[in-house]
Amino acid sequence: MTTSRRFSRPQGLTALLLIALALAAPLARAFDLPPLPYAHNALAPVVDEQTMQIHHGKHHKAYVDNLNAAVAKEPALQGKSLEDLLAGISKLPPAVRNNAGGHWNHSQFWAVMAPAGDGGAPSAELLTAIQQSFGSLEAMQEQFNQAAAARFGSGWAWLIRRLDGSLAITSTANQDNPLMDVVTERGIPLLGNDVWEHAYYLQYQNRRADYLEAWWQVVDWQAVSSRYAAAGK
Ligand code: MN
Repeated sequence: MTTSRRFSRPQGLTALLLIALALAAPLARAFDLPPLPYAHNALAPVVDEQTMQIHHGKHHKAYVDNLNAAVAKEPALQGKSLEDLLAGISKLPPAVRNNAGGHWNHSQFWAVMAPAGDGGAPSAELLTAIQQSFGSLEAMQEQFNQAAAARFGSGWAWLIRRLDGSLAITSTANQDNPLMDVVTERGIPLLGNDVWEHAYYLQYQNRRADYLEAWWQVVDWQAVSSRYAAAGK
């Protein structure tokens, strides 16, 4: 009995500590840099290997690291999903806005690209929706490229699904995106292209239009079609 009592307290404390750790673990969970789903040279010659290495390993990593640092300073934000942060971004500090946006935008960017020839074609459902909203796939691409070319400075061009199911082309500055409560046209992004100079300058220098035109060769239409299907649920 005495022995049992002597050991029961440390065991009880250990159990409490384990419970506390288990509860705290999700709160302390950091955002992670997702691995590239293909090799760094897989998108060449449309996007060169060195650009991919720097873009993913340096730029995207910095957004993740800076987001973790920014969230660590805001106890109320810990444990929130990236999407939750974006939906209420108007009330959050600029460091959270820039880096949560940077992390989300780049995560989708890697996921909507594939080596040239591997991306397939839009699903029948997506193609129908594109034709209804823009007339044709080519017209949508032209409107997308125009929005991307017209973005002054740094930002993104997007194909989004609006709440009513229709599709639209939008553009956002810096690392904003259509999931944020600060943009004029909100929706679910199906496809976003990065028009920051770091995305293309090593290979295309100031020729953003050439990059935009070539980029369609590495769009993963199977991934975009999946995103369209998921967005409707
Ligand atoms: Mn970028």
